[in-house]
Amino acid sequence: MSGLPAPAWFEAAQREIRAALAGDRLAHGILIHEDAGAGGLAFARWIAQLLSCRETERAPCGECRECRWVAADQHPDVTRLAPLEDSNYIVVDQVRELIAELALTAHGRGYKVAIFTPADALYPNAANSLLKTLEEPPRRTLMLLVTSQPARLMATVRSRCSRIRLKGPTAAEAATFLEAARGPGPWAEALAATGGGPFSLLDADPESLAKLRNETIQAMNEIGAGKLQPPGVAERWTAKGADIAARLACLEIWVTERILESAAIRDVTHLSGAGGASKICRLFELSDAVREMRKQFQTSINKTMAVESLLWRWARQ
Ligand SMILES: [Zn+2]
Repeated sequence: MSGLPAPAWFEAAQREIRAALAGDRLAHGILIHEDAGAGGLAFARWIAQLLSCRETERAPCGECRECRWVAADQHPDVTRLAPLEDSNYIVVDQVRELIAELALTAHGRGYKVAIFTPADALYPNAANSLLKTLEEPPRRTLMLLVTSQPARLMATVRSRCSRIRLKGPTAAEAATFLEAARGPGPWAEALAATGGGPFSLLDADPESLAKLRNETIQAMNEIGAGKLQPPGVAERWTAKGADIAARLACLEIWVTERILESAAIRDVTHLSGAGGASKICRLFELSDAVREMRKQFQTSINKTMAVESLLWRWARQ
């Protein structure tokens, strides 16, 4: 894990892998089902380091040449397959090349490891060409398929892998990890702005994300109270240089939080008054509208108009 602090939430999954290895029952294909941004690739690299580290007692040490090579994607026995530039898929030629590579003898301690990130990017014929290798793998090979969406993998691939679950951290663990990795910053707000896991924020600017979240909350509160009008907000949010995609993601999280909050209040007080019910209805409508807009936003709709009509749903009538 060279360069990054050890993520506390890896521990359970790490214990599972160590136990399987100690019991000589490590599968040849492991599907690592991560929560988005939980660090599936880092965890796969940790496994590769465990298998290739020069230190036997305290592997993976993170410091020896083998560990450093794995961390830098330079280990001759560890191959990482990801979509090539300009492509959304891992294609069949990449898999064929890997299969040829796996047939060769390992350079180091004897294991050859292939890491697929994200494994759900395997194009169907690429996945098909991998099946035979998953079924009858060369000795001492390990294929690690990392994905946050295992349902998108072909069932034939899934069924040939053992599974390991990498659950995301608590909000506090995530913020602590980012602070250790990147230094102080408003990490809790930045995490709340994106709804993603800490690994997706390793290169992010926490200040601008926190600002995005605070502005979004303030604008929605003021629109809801009739203090701010949707057209001006829509203009600002879609102005040149404004990151509208991040804004809509942030807005979706805000709506979801309000829905949960309203539902909890109604639950506690048994308030089934028309006011509470209609507010929840409006929130659900707003939530659907935000999701729909996020899907369509690449198309050439008039963004300012679309955001304005979205915000009118929340404006005090
Ligand atoms: Zn090492």
